Amino acid sequence: MGSKGREIIGMDVEELIDLLRRAYCDEWLAYYQYWLGAKLVKGPMKDAVGAELLQHATQELMHADMVAMRIIQLGGTPVTKPEEWYKLTNCGYDAPDDPFVKTILVQNIKGEQCAIGVYKRLMDITKDTDPVTYNMVLQILQQEVEHEEDLQALLEDFELMMRAMKE
Ligand code: FE
Ligand code: FE
Ligand code: MG
Repeated sequence: MGSKGREIIGMDVEELIDLLRRAYCDEWLAYYQYWLGAKLVKGPMKDAVGAELLQHATQELMHADMVAMRIIQLGGTPVTKPEEWYKLTNCGYDAPDDPFVKTILVQNIKGEQCAIGVYKRLMDITKDTDPVTYNMVLQILQQEVEHEEDLQALLEDFELMMRAMKE
């Protein structure tokens, strides 16, 4: 990367690249979990849930793009082999083997909560040391917070509908 751009970073750049590479793996796994979940999801409200999952998939892929660009800018290389995703991920992967809406929603809420934790930690680390990464992480965190809220609102609607059907 540009020498002055690197000079202004007040932390170990290799350590920062390592953390970003892990987040990059999370984003690809989240992308795939959402993308496939959107196709498989079954049960009440599956159309609304599928549309939301697909939108989130697109946004997770955008996060992977943003994180990759920053890793490269810092002089690092994003993970080149998908088999590494499992080794480096913070948040793991929940296979959508049970396509029931509620199961899919609960799995993805768990993923978003993990992502929020990951990006909050990255914000804390870069707050006083790297304004460029901090700004990027903030943008991603804003969307992860939105994702969690979207999914929790859908889950709440689902529960209310199930309750109404029983009455
Ligand atoms: Fe994301
Ligand atoms: Fe997300
Ligand atoms: Mg959304």
